[in-house]
Amino acid sequence: MRKNIVAGNWKMNTTLDEGVELANEINTLLKGKNVNCEVITCVPFTHLTSVNAVLENDLVKLGAENCSEHEKGAYTGEVSASMVKSTGAEYVILGHSERRQYFGENNEQLLAKTKLALANDLKPIFCVGEVLEERENGSYNDVVKGQVEALFELSPEDFGKIVIAYEPVWAIGTGKTATAEQAQDMHAHIRKVIEDKYGKEVAENTSILYGGSCKPSNAKELFAKPDVDGGLIGGAALQADSFLGIIEAFN
Ligand code: PEP
Repeated sequence: MRKNIVAGNWKMNTTLDEGVELANEINTLLKGKNVNCEVITCVPFTHLTSVNAVLENDLVKLGAENCSEHEKGAYTGEVSASMVKSTGAEYVILGHSERRQYFGENNEQLLAKTKLALANDLKPIFCVGEVLEERENGSYNDVVKGQVEALFELSPEDFGKIVIAYEPVWAIGTGKTATAEQAQDMHAHIRKVIEDKYGKEVAENTSILYGGSCKPSNAKELFAKPDVDGGLIGGAALQADSFLGIIEAFN
């Protein structure tokens, strides 16, 4: 059966010292707590090794925020999936809307990144989501379907290793959350798109997270929906107590 997951995405925030301190706080707060979901913290490349050293892996799993679509070689400034894996990370966020929007990442590149992540035994947290205009003009279901279909070259076995994060772009960092009903409708749609391609078992076993201004005050209502299996958390993951508040929505 699919897992419930709360994953933090620190984005381009915290210096190394600040990041290690935050990871320590999260780890300490979770100790001895009744935690009913998998907790993942996705951090900048520069922080991976040091954060890994302070996280207890049975409490908090480690993830990166991106990886290269190239395996290795003359790509100055890029970080490969095998480099990420070598830090101890288990997860990698791919296709975040900020990568799609600001760095022009397209479906082809994202498929290449996903394949390399899987080949290096990293679990992708693959982000999809529509922009405001697409929400308003009613094309959002088709847009998100197309983003999920970008992965349909994968075998059922490989697709089964992927976590999907539905993040409506208009809700990211805006304080404007999708309603629990909007999230549920889209998550059910995504699950059906997966089912039509890979069958019921793969669809039912895929964790689909919601992301977009999720916080302790709205997490419970969102996570109570049958197809919402947790959250990908930006701003609220930068403080240990609010991150914990979201994790506790599963209690
Ligand atoms: C995100 O960037 O993945 C995100 C969901 O951000 P926020 O929670 O700040 O909206």
